[in-house]
Amino acid sequence: MTPQKPYLLKPDDEIGRRFKYEFDGGRDFSLPDMDCPRCTPWNTTGSEYPSIAPKDLPLALRRAARSLGLSVEAWQRLRQEVGSAMPGDVEWEPGTEFGSLEADVRGNLPDVVWRGSWTLVLRQVAYDKLLDEGFELRGRSAKLNWKGGAPTKLTEVEVRLGVKLHDWRSLSRCEVCGRPIEDAPDRIILDRKTYDPTVPIQRIVDLPTSMVVSPAMKEAMERIGLSGVTFAAPEWK
Ligand SMILES: [Zn+2]
Repeated sequence: MTPQKPYLLKPDDEIGRRFKYEFDGGRDFSLPDMDCPRCTPWNTTGSEYPSIAPKDLPLALRRAARSLGLSVEAWQRLRQEVGSAMPGDVEWEPGTEFGSLEADVRGNLPDVVWRGSWTLVLRQVAYDKLLDEGFELRGRSAKLNWKGGAPTKLTEVEVRLGVKLHDWRSLSRCEVCGRPIEDAPDRIILDRKTYDPTVPIQRIVDLPTSMVVSPAMKEAMERIGLSGVTFAAPEWK
């Protein structure tokens, strides 16, 4: 059976009219920048694995995280050193974050709060409802520092890479470090062959700040009435 097209999941930009809140989150463990002589130092936003605690990482990665930047050669050595010690579906790169999110919070939160537009954080009750619906999600409680308002528990959903852009291999890359050097496309066209409909939420490999949900997940989120999200229909080929 042909899978149905997924939907882009995005923050609801209008949410500030209904909910007054602040959510200032971050993680203290991330891999160093790539100090490429051609690109200048860079890292990837949206590469984050809250379910993997820093203490469970290979020693080489824990050591590397102490530096702010590594040369292209040092990154190559790091990749050799770590080898296959990380799970195959975990893509780690410059700027990848591990472990729980910590946040200063105040106010009246919607069901879904976001860090930027790429970190998905749900009220615990909303997260539990999605689990009750049968969706297999990976999550980790955020560590919250309440500055005001009614404290509530929040769980960050881990969203791993999945679907790719159509024709993504044609993105041109830096010859020195391999970084994709094209800007994000104006129109998101997904490669339908790379979409696994059994994964309810997944990031777009070439645009890890963007994520898609399966039609079943969209339907459940709408039926439950989750505040804080909107959906958009991408193209696919
Ligand atoms: Zn480069």
